[in-house]
Amino acid sequence: MDQRRLVFFPLPLQGHQTPMLQLASILYSKGFSISIIHTNFNSPNPANYPSFTFHSISDNLSESEASTEDLTLLLHNLNMNCLVPFSAILSEIMSEVGVACLITDVIWYFTQAVADSLDLPRIVLRTNNPSSFIAFTYLPLFREKGYLSAQGSKLDEPVPELPPLKKKDIPRIHTRFPELNDEVSRKMMETSKAARGLVFNSFEELEGSSLTLVRQHFQIPVFAVGPFQKQVQASFSSLLTEDRSCIPWLNAQQPKSVLYVSFGSIAAIDEAQFHEIAWGLAHSKQPFLWVIRPGLVRGLNGRGAPLPNGFLEMVTGRSMIVGWAPQEEVLAHPAIGGFWTHCGWNSILESICKGVPMICLPFFGDQMTNARYVTDVWRVGLRFEKGLKQEDIEKGIKRIMVEKEGKEMIQRLAVLKDNASVCIQKGGSSYQSLESLVAHILSF
Ligand code: UDP
Repeated sequence: MDQRRLVFFPLPLQGHQTPMLQLASILYSKGFSISIIHTNFNSPNPANYPSFTFHSISDNLSESEASTEDLTLLLHNLNMNCLVPFSAILSEIMSEVGVACLITDVIWYFTQAVADSLDLPRIVLRTNNPSSFIAFTYLPLFREKGYLSAQGSKLDEPVPELPPLKKKDIPRIHTRFPELNDEVSRKMMETSKAARGLVFNSFEELEGSSLTLVRQHFQIPVFAVGPFQKQVQASFSSLLTEDRSCIPWLNAQQPKSVLYVSFGSIAAIDEAQFHEIAWGLAHSKQPFLWVIRPGLVRGLNGRGAPLPNGFLEMVTGRSMIVGWAPQEEVLAHPAIGGFWTHCGWNSILESICKGVPMICLPFFGDQMTNARYVTDVWRVGLRFEKGLKQEDIEKGIKRIMVEKEGKEMIQRLAVLKDNASVCIQKGGSSYQSLESLVAHILSF
């Protein structure tokens, strides 16, 4: 048996696949051989990882099912459809080369039973952060207490069990199938507890108290080995084509003058919100780089998002719009002074590592919790607490990009950024946690 062969099974969503492939690269650098099992849907490009072995399985999703429009339904279908092909390919790999351990996304809950039946240890990666994961573990209690049905001003009430969260920060996923939502969450938690370890792309200095809560709740070894992106050469895991023309454009802008606006790979807005954002950006008078990816605006059936009349005339010369950006490179660019984000965990961690203050516009799930941590715990961003209005957007952009408030955030970010660098160096918290993870896997 190859004691150093690891099999990874990433979830086929951008924000999950990127950190899973980064973790695979980190463990490859520690001497492990890497096999990746992946679905046809959103498959990674094997050419970008010549040292890894890739195995594709059929996810059996119909054309309409292969969509993130109803995320809960997609996750449920993937877990149902992949059981048979995944079990077959995993058994085949095990019989050919032998495997030390299976590492899957937490959301692949069906894989725990498969691993058990093959007597193979399974470790899970939670690609969201420990602070939001803890909020997910409280969902049954929050439901029982009626917090999940809070409406209107009650949404601004605190959650006493989990400060500094407010009721509106509880992770929720909008779906046509709420009963499936409960099932996916419950199975994800139950099977995580049965895993042999839980890995996070975070670090002790950033989320020490949440990691303590996770350890108490799950009672399995927990490894905080992030930030992953600082430990790998570069990410090649983009599912959409990056428009690199924004880099020469950024080169021509003043230092810290440009607001980068991107809402990740899944979040969708309606046309009214889209217009509000556009006018807020236009009236702010600040230069901006805006990612309008296909599907960002709901209900257009493949048509491009229609910018409001007169918008382009107002922003010519100080703006650029792309379909997908090389985000890490953009955030590292000296011209970037702020990041208007949907608060996906990868985006937040990338922003922290580059020291860029944030404007938060969370949409669903962990993004709600993340935004509260950005504004109230780390105090490196602001949020529109009273909805999305162009006057507030205009003021918010100025607060971040021009006023003292933004400068103070940059000072606080300098400390977090420094911690993010120190923790991965010899003797640092993530460095040690990675050593423990390697020793743990080798002990199986
Ligand atoms: N990203 C990118 N280009 C873009 C927008 C996003 O490369 O134009 C990357 C970003 O760097 C991050 C990932 O896509 O690594 C998005 O993950 P996140 O957890 O922030 O959000 P999600 O897409 O899962 O909602």
